Amino acid sequence: GEAAAAKDASAKKVKRKAVKTFEDSIEYKDFEKRRRLLESTENPYFICHDSIIRDTSIVKDREVINFGSYNYVGMSGHPQTVKAAKEAAEKYGTSASGSRLISGEKNLYIELEREIAKWKHAEDCLVLVSGHATNVTFVGNFCGENDLILYDALSHNSIEQGCRISRAAAKAFPHNDIDALERILRQNRDYYEKILVVVEGVYSMDGDIAPIPEFIKLKEKYGFFLMVDEAHSSCVIGEHGGGVDEYFKLKGDEIDIKMGTLSKGLGTCGGYLAGKKSLIEYLRYNLPGFVFSVGINPPSAAATLAAVRLIQRDNSMVKKLHENIKIFIEEAHLRNLNTCLAKETAIIPILVGKDRDAFILSNLLLKNGVFVPPAVYPAVPKGYARLRFCVNCNHNRDQIVYALDTLKNIAEKEGIKLPCMDGGKY
Ligand code: PMP
Repeated sequence: GEAAAAKDASAKKVKRKAVKTFEDSIEYKDFEKRRRLLESTENPYFICHDSIIRDTSIVKDREVINFGSYNYVGMSGHPQTVKAAKEAAEKYGTSASGSRLISGEKNLYIELEREIAKWKHAEDCLVLVSGHATNVTFVGNFCGENDLILYDALSHNSIEQGCRISRAAAKAFPHNDIDALERILRQNRDYYEKILVVVEGVYSMDGDIAPIPEFIKLKEKYGFFLMVDEAHSSCVIGEHGGGVDEYFKLKGDEIDIKMGTLSKGLGTCGGYLAGKKSLIEYLRYNLPGFVFSVGINPPSAAATLAAVRLIQRDNSMVKKLHENIKIFIEEAHLRNLNTCLAKETAIIPILVGKDRDAFILSNLLLKNGVFVPPAVYPAVPKGYARLRFCVNCNHNRDQIVYALDTLKNIAEKEGIKLPCMDGGKY
């Protein structure tokens, strides 16, 4: 038995050339190729913004219109969140200094989780130190060998990473394609214990909204757990920025796991999971990314608590954001630009096509006082590079018009043909 197994294992082994320095590895060589492309234009990455992100930010000592950041409703830098962060830093210092389970727990965190649970119409909530880590650890540990994870093909990297560590079977279904998902469910329901379906409220590269009520209907029919990543829908969709629950007028308990990041609309840093008491209580004692990691830092927790309270009390920032989104999309269409799938969300991509063209346009826009980052392969499919505009509540019509006119002029001068709305895939 054992000897045969050993022989089998060695039979499968393929001889490979040893990699002795990292520079010789395939990974590094691929990276060098990408870096050469970046160096062939001006590098659009790691641009320093040395200020609060409002409608503008400071790049190389110059104020530029910022269309590249997630401060959708102005919570980062808001006087109330800054005050809360300062007071928390003075009271608690700058770290939880331990896992909450062991030594890092604070009443501030309990209050924050209660407030987010209330906001998200959930029984309970757990806050972690990073949005990305929240997805990796939850998706990676909620499911195991006997389970199946079905995730939208345009899902964020953190969801895919979670699938990889889970040991569950995992399969992407075509973007927002309910029929395709139903076919997979019909064929697989009998072969797995738990099935987890993961979607996003708003997709981060295209800016479209998932048809959540249709997923809920399927859930009732097939019995699976529905997780919605609300990174870009919380604080953005719904009259008060309540996210998918408010936008689709849900009762609140239809979605099993409402995940969100603190780094976008809420203007701080971290992630949360909201859901039924039993599940959240289980996670509090068992979720590796929570149990074996430090608690969120007190200034972030206090600023987040202030932000969640503020957005429930006052929807003027959300209203202003909605106005700006409408203006942006209208003005873009007036100029025959292709806004991909964007509808009512703060992410509005403008399709360019080639990666290199997106880099060139981003660089030239910055020279003309507009910051907007390119999104290129592998974040988006090959040939569908885009400029990814993020609108926030502090922008105004003049800034939007200036940015779009400048883009059109630059593209024309450079001989870059921007696809129109019915050109290409979108
Ligand atoms: N989920 C989605 C859909 C995201 O877009 C992001 C961030 N881009 C994350 C999760 C990770 O969140 P964070 O940046 O707060 O770690």
